Amino acid sequence: MSDASSTALSRTLYLRFLTYVKPHWRILAIALASTAAVAATESLFPALMKPLLDKGFAAKPDEHLWRIPLFIIGIFLLRSVLTYLSSYSFAWLSNRVVTELRQEMFERLIRLPTSYFAKNASSVAMTKITNDVNGVAFMGAGVVVVLVRDSLTVVALVAWLLYLNWKLTLVTFILLPVVALIIRAFSGRLRRLGRAGHEGMRQMTQTLQESIACQKVVKVFSGEAQETARFAHVNNALRGSGMRQSIAAAASVPITHLCAAVALAAVVWLALLQSGRQEVTVGDFVSFITAMLMLLNPLKHLADVNAPLQQGLAAAESIFQLLDEAPEVDRGGISLGRVTGRLELQNVSFAYPGAERNALSKVSLTVEPGQTVALVGPSGGGKTTLASLLPRFYRPTEGRILVDGNDLEETTLASLRANIALVSQEILLFDDTVANNIAYGAMRDASPAAIEAAASAAHALEFIRALPQGFDTVIGENGARLSGGQRQRIAIARAILKDAPVLILDEATSALDNESERQVQAALETLMQGRTTVVIAHRLSTIEGADRIVVLQHGVVAETGTHRELIARGGVYASFHRLQVSDLGMPQA
Ligand code: ADP
Ligand code: MG
Repeated sequence: MSDASSTALSRTLYLRFLTYVKPHWRILAIALASTAAVAATESLFPALMKPLLDKGFAAKPDEHLWRIPLFIIGIFLLRSVLTYLSSYSFAWLSNRVVTELRQEMFERLIRLPTSYFAKNASSVAMTKITNDVNGVAFMGAGVVVVLVRDSLTVVALVAWLLYLNWKLTLVTFILLPVVALIIRAFSGRLRRLGRAGHEGMRQMTQTLQESIACQKVVKVFSGEAQETARFAHVNNALRGSGMRQSIAAAASVPITHLCAAVALAAVVWLALLQSGRQEVTVGDFVSFITAMLMLLNPLKHLADVNAPLQQGLAAAESIFQLLDEAPEVDRGGISLGRVTGRLELQNVSFAYPGAERNALSKVSLTVEPGQTVALVGPSGGGKTTLASLLPRFYRPTEGRILVDGNDLEETTLASLRANIALVSQEILLFDDTVANNIAYGAMRDASPAAIEAAASAAHALEFIRALPQGFDTVIGENGARLSGGQRQRIAIARAILKDAPVLILDEATSALDNESERQVQAALETLMQGRTTVVIAHRLSTIEGADRIVVLQHGVVAETGTHRELIARGGVYASFHRLQVSDLGMPQA
């Protein structure tokens, strides 16, 4: 990236960041004013040196000199209060901005389309929200403190120096532009290193997350060494980028110091020459050197500020990237009431973003209210894809889908989804109580009686009652404290409680053992009554009992009809059916 465009980018990022600070301008004003006051009082110390030395240690001390110690205490008192005020208000400001950024990021995250989550590892968003905001926080507070306090301190001290002895001061500052140029050379490199650091942190989060989530696989397949090696790899990569960052940042400090030392030497030499000509008093000289030495620290801070600034800008870039992701398209104006459940797919084609082949091609299908349609076909045939188009997790690339005659594109997402219940093979539960898992989201306020009725219809009442705290038992992450069948029945109870006219069952029973499958199956049959159901199942009885069977092969409807019709036709379905050994499953192509 060229220097100019990189500077322009920095400015855009910083200005955008400032929009988050702007609403709190009052606090910012207090923070800046108190910081400025701290800086302004800094040069009072060297200023005190002159009268102290020239008069205090003269042959006949001035009688008002007792004021000086009191003055010192006074300055300290004032500076303590101001420093506290400055730290407090900057801390308030940065914590506030971090909270607001995190909240805004989360609100965006929760509204991102399904395709975002298919495309990006979950650690990407997680690192942005947990980690990257901190870099920005420091940019917001630490950097501003340094810029305001230290540059003002420098100005105040330099003013005192000029007042004392402008010739000496000029010599001191001939070296400053040189330092500035050297520091500039570091900024681009620091930013790049900052980006590498964020990527390293993200990889570490991902490695951790996977090792924890897959810990059983790790144990049984003896993956400990492999996981440890993988972790060591990202761990070391992080160390490497951390070191490179520190080295680049650290190098700017000795360079500043070296320049300062050269200046100091020059000043001492000149001062000695001047004192030979009686141009400077002892007080002048000591005060000058004190002020000059006091300049070192703020100058060092100013030199260092570039590192957190560049890291902060890299973090801001990463945060705004998430905030700029397009949310789910929700432009429809029709708010559906409770639909009867007539589904119509007209020439629907769909390709996953970036995929070469269509996952669905020209699928047309009508399901009357209350009917059950079973989707069958080889794995990868497009069944799940078709099911995920109905709640508009994805939008068809061609064709239309209608619910009760309304194009999904024209309905609001919320009203569409309010009409659909989904139970899939992938069971998704929260680490909360059984009751809260059943009465989730829009059903949050369901009465205990309604929750119990739903659990009962889902054949879940018996095992829930046997849990230590019944409905108030916390079930662990994704229901870790329950069996597969129990988890699935809680998911079904959730769908029952929702009482939506359209029901999607995607292999809801395929991960279960025979006994729990029998119970879940009974629960599902209760659930399917009176609803338009799209069912993807491996169980023959479910398929045979469907009003219609649709065979999906390579994303195309190969056959459609009732069980009898399809058997009679002797096509794909009939051969699947013949191959089926027991009712254990559709043969997987
Ligand atoms: P089924 O449920 O019938 O087994 P799917 O609908 O899951 O099949 O998959 C249909 C096709 O789409 C497959 O070829 C699969 O590889 C592809 N596919 C599924 N999900 C994604 C995705 N998120 N991104 C890209 N391709 C996908
Ligand atoms: Mg599937």
